[in-house]
Amino acid sequence: MFETDTEGIRQEAATGALPARDRVEQLVRAAHERYRGVDAGSVADYIPALAEADHGWFGICVADTAGGLVEIGDTGVPFSIQSISKAFVYALVCDAFGHERIGELVGVDNTGLPFNSVIALELNGGHPMNPMVNAGAIATTALVAGETADAKWETIARGLARFAGRALEVDDRVFTSESETNSRNQAIARLLQSYGRLDGEPGEIVEVYTRQCSLLVTARDIAIMGATLADGGVNPVTGERVVSEEVSRDTLAVLAANGLYERSGEWLFQIGLPAKSGVSGGIVSIAPGKGAIGTFAPPLDAAGNSVRGERATAYLSRTLGLNLFASAAVGASAVPAPASTPAPDERTV
Ligand code: GLN
Repeated sequence: MFETDTEGIRQEAATGALPARDRVEQLVRAAHERYRGVDAGSVADYIPALAEADHGWFGICVADTAGGLVEIGDTGVPFSIQSISKAFVYALVCDAFGHERIGELVGVDNTGLPFNSVIALELNGGHPMNPMVNAGAIATTALVAGETADAKWETIARGLARFAGRALEVDDRVFTSESETNSRNQAIARLLQSYGRLDGEPGEIVEVYTRQCSLLVTARDIAIMGATLADGGVNPVTGERVVSEEVSRDTLAVLAANGLYERSGEWLFQIGLPAKSGVSGGIVSIAPGKGAIGTFAPPLDAAGNSVRGERATAYLSRTLGLNLFASAAVGASAVPAPASTPAPDERTV
């Protein structure tokens, strides 16, 4: 971490609001209309049960920090949360124990490598680098509050339910399918253990991690979960505080750097929002203070991110004015800029 001097300096909140509801509705409809015919990408099949997804499913939901929802398409279709769970489990661990321990053990920097990379761990002396790749997420799950694997699972299930505002069920088919084929994650957990970076028994931790990835959510759920992080940690639909404001801020920073794996820089450049994707086709993107966009469309690009989800989010980030880096000059009309710099010999002294 950089040495900074922020102690005692007040954290001002992100400002601004979404456009009026009818405008949001119009734009969400337009995004769906624009991209529903896009059939690029392929559905993940390295977890066999995921290959059964309908390629055409496409849902978009915008949840605002006042608890309002605007949705279109397949926003009620359940899918396994997969990697999107990493963001919320990280938030729960930080909320319970502070970010120092997990920061030291897992870090916040991008690996520049795919989400399930083993090489990334080796290149960094066993350091997972961040909690949004599998190695970092498995190490994070190991830190979840609870003495036993069952107790950790309870903490995760209860915590993610508070983010969503409803109890979430495990998709047993997906859980079994991934459990039978996740030797790579087992290897990552053992490797973490060999470097002294896994707080627990590798088999048990991977089982809890796999179960957390198998929780069923909808595009509407992930929008509400994201809106909770946009709302300083309070679920805007239930009004319940789930995590602190500081944890929400820290989680969003980690998502900005790592949420789209090795494509995170490109995502930030084009879309300008912290976000998290998962291999079943969900993406949640968060506009601090304003709300979140949940999208669901199973076909993925080469990095494992939903193609239609990326396009729809890019469109909505622009049209709803969500990009964190986009500003307009204040008072530009009052102080006209010089049309051009005068040549040296035209200058008056
Ligand atoms: N459960 C999946 C895995 O561990 C999650 C990966 C993802 O969504 N990118 O491989």
